Amino acid sequence: MRHPLVIGNWKLNGSKHMVNDFIVALRNKLSSVVGCDVVIAPPVAYLDMAKRHLDGSCIALGAQNVDTHFSGAFTGEVSAEMLKDIGVKYIIIGHSDRRTLHKESDDIIAEKFFVSKTVGLVPVLCIGESKTEKEVGQTEDVCVHQIDAILNRMGAKAFENTVIAYEPIWAIGTGKSATPAEAQAVHKFIRGYIAKHDESIAEQVIIQYGGSVNTINAAELFTQPDIDGFLVGSASLIVDSFVMIVKIASSSK
Ligand code: PEP
Repeated sequence: MRHPLVIGNWKLNGSKHMVNDFIVALRNKLSSVVGCDVVIAPPVAYLDMAKRHLDGSCIALGAQNVDTHFSGAFTGEVSAEMLKDIGVKYIIIGHSDRRTLHKESDDIIAEKFFVSKTVGLVPVLCIGESKTEKEVGQTEDVCVHQIDAILNRMGAKAFENTVIAYEPIWAIGTGKSATPAEAQAVHKFIRGYIAKHDESIAEQVIIQYGGSVNTINAAELFTQPDIDGFLVGSASLIVDSFVMIVKIASSSK
């Protein structure tokens, strides 16, 4: 039985005030909500502070990036062990912002996945196709290619206790979500592809949908059998919207 999971990816947004006010409100509004794991992923500068504000709550901490190295002369980078050391649990890997703006290749992403798993972080592997790739019918090929990078590096066991976030690039930050049927078809395909390598891991791997999730479309998306939760960008910055999406994902299917 897969447990729903909602992650708020704050991207490059936030401030000390925002972290404080947001977490106070979030803890308060989610105090009676069970049935859904909740994660916030603020910018790295606020992770330690956020962790201290989250202490004693069920809300976990996620980070948005990690280096491929454990330590050494890599100015400006943050290692998986450092993230683990300050209480981070989840790590977002392969987000399209990083694939496109920072030119992260599948090999780099696989290495980030590897170092994260090695230290006991939970990788959240973002995959998904561009608008053009969708239009020419390459959605499944793109997902396979991005998943294969991990399978080739670590084998199917890599996906044990991890998360895949299907995030079609054309839906991220555009206000144009995939329809529930479109998303379900891809999620089912992804689970089926993992099952070809290991059925029990496919059954337990959490597959989130991400891309313009909001308080209006979340409920119908969540009714789909292979949608196990959401990776939320913009709507995760508004506490009431984020709380409503969490409440939707904590309701039984
Ligand atoms: C994201 O950046 O991962 C994301 C899903 O953003 P948004 O919800 O704003 O589309």
